[in-house]
Amino acid sequence: MAQSLIRNVDVLIVPEAGECHVAEAQDIHLTDSVITAIVPTGTPPPATPVEVIDGTGLLAVPGLINSHTHSPMVMMRGAAEDLSIDDWFNQRIWPMEVNLTPERVRVGARLACAEMLLAGVTTFVDHYFHADQIAQAAIETGIRADLAPTYFSSAGPEAIDAAIATTRELATLHPRITASLGPHATYTVSDDDLRRTADVARAEGLRIHLHAAETDDQTQASLDKHGVTPIEILDRTGVLDAGALIAHGCGIRDTDLPILARYADRTTVATCPKVYLKLAMGNGTPVKQLHSIGIRTGIGTDGAAVHNTLDVWESLRLLALTQKHQQNNAEWMPLSDTLSLATRHSAAAANQPTTLGVLEPGRQADITLLDLSAPHNQPLHDPRAALVYSVRASDVHTVLVAGEVVVRNRQLTKLDLAEVLADARSLAHTLVDLSQGSAIQHYAP
Ligand SMILES: [Zn+2]
Repeated sequence: MAQSLIRNVDVLIVPEAGECHVAEAQDIHLTDSVITAIVPTGTPPPATPVEVIDGTGLLAVPGLINSHTHSPMVMMRGAAEDLSIDDWFNQRIWPMEVNLTPERVRVGARLACAEMLLAGVTTFVDHYFHADQIAQAAIETGIRADLAPTYFSSAGPEAIDAAIATTRELATLHPRITASLGPHATYTVSDDDLRRTADVARAEGLRIHLHAAETDDQTQASLDKHGVTPIEILDRTGVLDAGALIAHGCGIRDTDLPILARYADRTTVATCPKVYLKLAMGNGTPVKQLHSIGIRTGIGTDGAAVHNTLDVWESLRLLALTQKHQQNNAEWMPLSDTLSLATRHSAAAANQPTTLGVLEPGRQADITLLDLSAPHNQPLHDPRAALVYSVRASDVHTVLVAGEVVVRNRQLTKLDLAEVLADARSLAHTLVDLSQGSAIQHYAP
């Protein structure tokens, strides 16, 4: 049992309900991977700590959670710009993904993990191919991940079987790795395959992470083709009953809300607002309506092929801004609610609502320490306002995942960043090569 201590640090407290606040001058006691106490500085620890981290002048916040991403797509950063959503998929991304290999995915995932850890992200909820390689990158770099091996119905039953088998293997691989079933979307996976996925999920206690109702156009296309909304497809195939993380949900209609409300205890939605702005996807996720029926909403980046960063600070800032704009109400999505989405709700989206997302005894010690002394955060009238509106990823000073220091004084402790960058640069051109002339899928929802 290794004891450690973060001494004399300010701590962001995110209550279940009500306002967030900062408790000043606290000591955070850790035993192995778990927070055991948060007490005023100077309270004697129960045992002599092996490691003491000086938190003087720093603010401790729950490690950020990227609630929906495709981490290896950092390899396509900046390679698909100023395109409609149709052309983004059909002219760039799905033709590029013909080039995926285990090695290229792993190199991309290592770069993604490096970027996220340096920005204070301690967990990412991923949906991609070669997920076993992403797991190895996560284990190596010290980050926590929930991984959903992606599949399309067009790949055939054997590919689906293989993806499901990978989910099973990942679920027991490592304490920092959890796994979800990963059908791509309601428009790329048949109802029969969704039904089968839901049956596996229920029988084996797995949850399902997929894209649904990404835009209102998708919802309208589903109504025109099938007479039902994507949410109704999730209901009739048993996906909602099994428990699901729905990426985006920008096309959720008011008539879908009573359906979703029945599964509020096991449904979460991930929202990635920069993507909706950039691909002109309409109004964004109906966070307020989902709130009103008790659905928790996590914050994510989606892949860097559209988001360009895996910076969750950017996502949470854009969430607050776009929600105010969407509701035409400057009082909606206040600081505390934004921080609650980034912490408690995002922990639910990561399928770990009781172990992650909050700094309190009994939770995992996934902790980001921020240095708010830079000019863009000063003077610091309200640290919560800095967290939502002015903090930068480069203000992240130290990061712990499961009690282990993975970033110390703005440097990764477990991998050589220069090597990660060199590997990514040497392979990047192979990922964006369009010369093969084929695609892994066609976007026609
Ligand atoms: Zn996505």
